[in-house]
Amino acid sequence: MSGWRLAFVRTPGVSVCDVVLNGVVVHALSWDWSQPRAYPVVQHPFETDRTCWLHVIEIDTVDVQLAFAMGDAEDDVVVYYLPADAGDPNVVQGRDPLFEGHWRALEAEASNLPWPRAEPEWSGRDEFLAALEHVEVRAEVVDYRGLSHCRVCSRVNGYRAFRLDRWEWPEGFRHYVEDHGQRPTEAFVRFIAAQAAWLLGSETSSLLG
Ligand SMILES: [Zn+2]
Repeated sequence: MSGWRLAFVRTPGVSVCDVVLNGVVVHALSWDWSQPRAYPVVQHPFETDRTCWLHVIEIDTVDVQLAFAMGDAEDDVVVYYLPADAGDPNVVQGRDPLFEGHWRALEAEASNLPWPRAEPEWSGRDEFLAALEHVEVRAEVVDYRGLSHCRVCSRVNGYRAFRLDRWEWPEGFRHYVEDHGQRPTEAFVRFIAAQAAWLLGSETSSLLG
């Protein structure tokens, strides 16, 4: 968890030169996009039932020490946050994102990411896939930088991801579950079931156990 406060909203027509945080014109600085970054997920600044995904940028030079977070709140609306402590009346909590279906590139690769494993006897598959279909209609769609290929059969398997609440999963995740017997993690199954039940006005999903 990390604390943040909304510091600037850049709407269409507002120049990046106008984005000033703690007296610093942030877009006048160069920052290293390749450095490991945190991705806090905060309550959406304008809508209570959505989240906003941010990424943290830390600038540490002789002249400037500045940490801030930025993210897309809407099309062409970028929001900027500054760190805030718990006593700040405008603090919002940033939570870590959760990922499903993010595989390592190769089975033998040294990585903390999982590799698909078939569990064809899983009985919740049909209900999960039906729930996933409803949830993906509501989820935010984000573009990847390139095509993803299925780790099992090598077919082209999507180039976008879905985001909802704290979760992100690739559009091709369905293919693993449907065609390769993948069983989703228990946490993701429960999330999808709860979201679908809420969308459909029902609390009766057996996936929720
Ligand atoms: Zn495949």
